[in-house]
Order: sequence, then C-alpha cells, then structure tokens
Amino acid sequence: MLYDNDADLGLLTGDVDGPGSGATGGPASARGGKTVAIIGYGSQGHAHALNLKDSGVQVVVGLRPESASAQQASEQGLTVLPLTEAASRADIVMILLPDEVHREVYERELADGIAQGNMLMFAHGFSIHYGEVTPPEGVDVAMVAPKGPGHLVRRQFLEGSGVPGLIAVAQDASGHARELALAYAKGIGCTRGGVIETSFREETETDLFGEQAVLCGGLSELIQAGFETLVDAGYDPQMAYFECLHEVKLIVDLIYEKGLAGMRYSISNTAEYGDYTRGARVIDAHTRAKMREILQEIRSGEFAREWIAENRAGQESFKRMRAEQAATQIEAVGAELRSHMDFLDSSF
Ligand code: NAD
Ligand code: MG
Ligand code: MG
Repeated sequence: MLYDNDADLGLLTGDVDGPGSGATGGPASARGGKTVAIIGYGSQGHAHALNLKDSGVQVVVGLRPESASAQQASEQGLTVLPLTEAASRADIVMILLPDEVHREVYERELADGIAQGNMLMFAHGFSIHYGEVTPPEGVDVAMVAPKGPGHLVRRQFLEGSGVPGLIAVAQDASGHARELALAYAKGIGCTRGGVIETSFREETETDLFGEQAVLCGGLSELIQAGFETLVDAGYDPQMAYFECLHEVKLIVDLIYEKGLAGMRYSISNTAEYGDYTRGARVIDAHTRAKMREILQEIRSGEFAREWIAENRAGQESFKRMRAEQAATQIEAVGAELRSHMDFLDSSF
C-alpha cells in the first residue's frame, strides 16, 4: 500500500511538499505546477475538482455550456470552461464522464486539446482497456480510481481521512506518469486511506466482476429473491422488506468492520449455524459456475461489446430494465417504510 509519504503533491502544485515527500525529485518543469482539467462534474467529478482545489492544485472544470452543473461548480469557486477549452488549457486531463460516452466526447471535444507531454487520466480502466479511447503516443495515460462513490471521496477528505484508491499507468511517455498519478491520488485524499498499484486490465476486470456478480447484480437479486420468497409464502411484505433488505446494511457493516468471522461472532449461534448449513445451498456450485461464466465474458470483451452496442442503440433495453426494476413491489414497500426513517441521510 502507498500512503501520503510516498506521494509528492508538489509535482502538481509546484510547491515543495512536506518533509519526507521526496520533493526534490521529479522533473524541473513540474516544479512550475500543473493545471488539471476535470471533465464532468458528477459523482466523481465534483469530488476530484474540489479536493484538488483544496489541496492547492490549479483546477479547471470542463462542462457542456448547457450543463446544469456549471453554475454549481462556479458557485463552489471553480473555473468552468467548455470541454475543448478545458482540455487545451490543462496539462492533465481527467475524464470523469460516464464510461459509455468517453469515446464520443474524447474524439469530438478532447483529443485536439491533449498535447505531447500532457497526461490523460481516468477513474476506471474500461475505455482504455477495451479500446474505446486510443490516446496518441507521447502522452501519459494513467488511472486514479477511488474505491468509493464521489460523495464519500469529498466527505472523507473534508473529515481529514480519505477513500482508498487504485493507481495504474497504461502509457508512460514522460517517465513520470506514476509519480504524477500518485500526486493526484494524494490531492484527492486517496493516499490517506491507502493506494494499491494495479494495471488497467486488472482494475477493469475485477471492478466489472465485482459489480456484476457480487455488489450490484448478485446482491440485488439475492435481496429480491429472498423478499419474493417470503411474500409468495404469505408473509407481510413490510416484514419481508426489513428481513431481506433493511438488515443487509447491519450485517454488511459488521462484515466491513470485522470480516466474515467477526460478523459471525456478533450474530446469534442460531443464525451462525443457519449460515454454515444453508448459505452454500443458495450460492452453490451452479452459482459459482455462473460466476466463472460472467468473468469469462468480461475477460473476452463480450460484456464490453454488448454494453457498447446497447449504447449505440440508444440504451433502449437498459432504460426498459431500469423502469421495470424500479416498479417492483419491494421498491414501493421500501419507499413507504423509508419515508418514516428520519435517520436516513437522503442528501445523496
Ligand atoms: P456521473 O454520471 O456521476 O457524472 C458524469 C458527468 O458527465 C456529469 O457531470 C454529466 O453531466 C456529464 N456528462 C454526461 N454525458 C455527457 C456528455 N455526453 N458530454 C459531456 N458531459 C456529459 O459519472 P461518475 O459516476 O462520476 O463516473 C465518472 C467516471 O468515474 C467513470 O469512468 C466511472 O467508471 C468512474 N468511477 C465512478 C465511481 C462511482 O462510484 N460513481 C467510482 C469509481 C470510478
Ligand atoms: Mg464499477
Ligand atoms: Mg434474524
């Protein structure tokens, strides 16, 4: 793991960083500081832009003129420019747009502004790994991927801690891409939480697998199936909601803090025995074979091709599935119950 002391923020700010930062290293040109363009002001964009600014880095935000975020970004003290201008102005261009628009926006509005010696950055490896964006030679290409949503990246930075992150270098034209990526990770607070070095390929494949098999796809279906099993058997939907959805957070918090064994220490012996004897009947050899199949579709590029084609077709089936899933009974039951949970933070 890499931490604050392994990174030199001075490569971005032009200042001499704190003691033990290795601030005398790095190219002389970097001592003048860099301008970073944050392209997009969504979940990650706002957090990166504000954290870097607070870290003393020169930041411009690239947005479409009609963007609703433009006013918000200016009110928060940031310089907002059209995409093309932001890219030309900057030494480092961080693309924080949805992955499915990277190719189009890069080719149409960013590519011309990225000069030799500049650095192109991403927070996820998808578009480089699957060839959606092909940067020119002579440009550094790196990734800083916080392992958490943007609002947490901002909130934890303000609280003095930081979301852990990954860094990777896909193209090192300057010979300094790694140090610059690390400096960026420090600027957004990731080196406070710890940074792991990886490759674009490893980050992309593990990230897609995690969200498909476990975190988003697997978990949502597990919750849904449990809820429907209880409701179909005649149990009160509100009871089913608490049991199969609401309590997930309580268990996950324990797992997050103490691991699986630590969680099992906190639950009753009855729950623990049921866990050992029943869990593997739900997630069985068939499920594991499906996981391997899903991983294979990610590694072969089949999933990426399917998702890119879906976008070319206007996201028709994506939007249909989103509407269908939002209209299920568990959503209606949950909306009603959550409206009485005053302790929930609904600000994001
Ligand atoms: P987002 O959807 O929250 O924000 C996207 C921004 O891009 C918005 O400001 C939107 O207005 C703008 N935008 C959308 N379409 C555009 C277009 N055609 N032209 C110009 N601007 C457009 O995105 P996000 O979740 O912050 O993701 C950004 C990147 O960060 C992605 O590569 C994603 O994989 C990565 N990432 C996200 C998370 C996360 O938790 N959200 C975590 C790690 C990495
Ligand atoms: Mg992901
Ligand atoms: Mg129970």
